[in-house]
Amino acid sequence: MDLYEYQGKELFRRVGIPVGDGRLATTPGEARQAAEVLGGPVVIKAQVLTGGRGKAGGVKLARNAHEAEEHAKNIIGLDIKGHVVKRLWVEQASDIAKEYYLSLTFDRGVKKPLFMFTTQGGIDIEQVAAETPDALVRLHVDPLEGFNPWQARRLVYGAGVTEPSEQKQIAKIIGQLYDAFVRFDAMLCEVNPLIVTPDGIVKALDSKFTVDDNALYRHPDIAEMRDEDAADPLEALARAKHVTYVKLDGEVGVCGNGAGLTMSTVDVVTFAGGRPANFCDLGGGGDAQGVVDALSVITQDPQVKAVFFNIFGGITRCDEVARGILQALDEMKLELPMVVRLDGTNAEEGRRILAEAAPANLHVSPTMLEAATRAVELAA
Ligand code: GDP
Ligand code: MN
Repeated sequence: MDLYEYQGKELFRRVGIPVGDGRLATTPGEARQAAEVLGGPVVIKAQVLTGGRGKAGGVKLARNAHEAEEHAKNIIGLDIKGHVVKRLWVEQASDIAKEYYLSLTFDRGVKKPLFMFTTQGGIDIEQVAAETPDALVRLHVDPLEGFNPWQARRLVYGAGVTEPSEQKQIAKIIGQLYDAFVRFDAMLCEVNPLIVTPDGIVKALDSKFTVDDNALYRHPDIAEMRDEDAADPLEALARAKHVTYVKLDGEVGVCGNGAGLTMSTVDVVTFAGGRPANFCDLGGGGDAQGVVDALSVITQDPQVKAVFFNIFGGITRCDEVARGILQALDEMKLELPMVVRLDGTNAEEGRRILAEAAPANLHVSPTMLEAATRAVELAA
């Protein structure tokens, strides 16, 4: 789950990382009031779950409350990469002497958290990595050993920070960021820019914070931060129905049982020349209601032109899935073409049930590749 900047900053604040004082606003009037309360110049920042807000006109400095209101009028409703701005963060403006970059994420290849730090912050980190890779210092932390203060010093010296007070403040923030990462079950904590003010104070001017969805049960306060309005409506529907669903952008709806088989199904659709519209895992049960729930999510995606059911019966019984599919077709009056491949426990029985009912839009294929090819043809 991705957090808004202001939510990420709240978590930063809890572990002691310095952040600016600010207020949330949803109307120009609230932005004005926030600016009055904060006093002095403020920065009006679009709260959207995407980066590059500055370039898109979503971050504006205001000298006073009147300007804050005017900027808020322009920023609310702005479309930033498909995200419409509804919330603003009004923060006391900071004077910036330097912009650094600091992040902590997972390096899945090495199975360790990875710190990245550079004094070339503020801009796209991809650009720094491509043009001046040596300026980007990388350091892995062994999760079993935990974080050690020498690692912070290595990052700071490695990036060429020479001012002792800066070194000290950044090293402390690096340790605090590791704390936040572990304590809140984060998958990404990024600070771009981490600024140094002309007075030599280091603080986080921005925050990108992603929390592991599977750990949210341990953090009800963070789970509550979710903005259901901003979520993909299909993913929100799937969550409400307890369906494991990820929206992709092709035309073939994919439904498998078990994450491994479903991923292979996504691959085989691509191999057959098509593009998967989604990833949907029925899980181990594959009972009738599960099939109905999954189909009710998949078929609400207007991009879906055909659905491919790929079921391998282990614990799941194929006859049960076949009944589920028929029940779903019956209840939902679906006309989309569907291709079903059943194998494993009670597969013959399952195929017989489908053949007997024989709805016109249902196609049964014996192998995964044939089924995928058929589904891709039908979606074309
Ligand atoms: P992003 O574009 O979505 O990454 O949003 P940021 O929060 O990183 O802001 C973009 C840029 O706006 C920063 O790199 C700064 O240069 C500028 N900016 C943001 N807040 C302030 C501020 O308080 N004072 C000043 N002077 N510039 C700011
Ligand atoms: Mn930023």
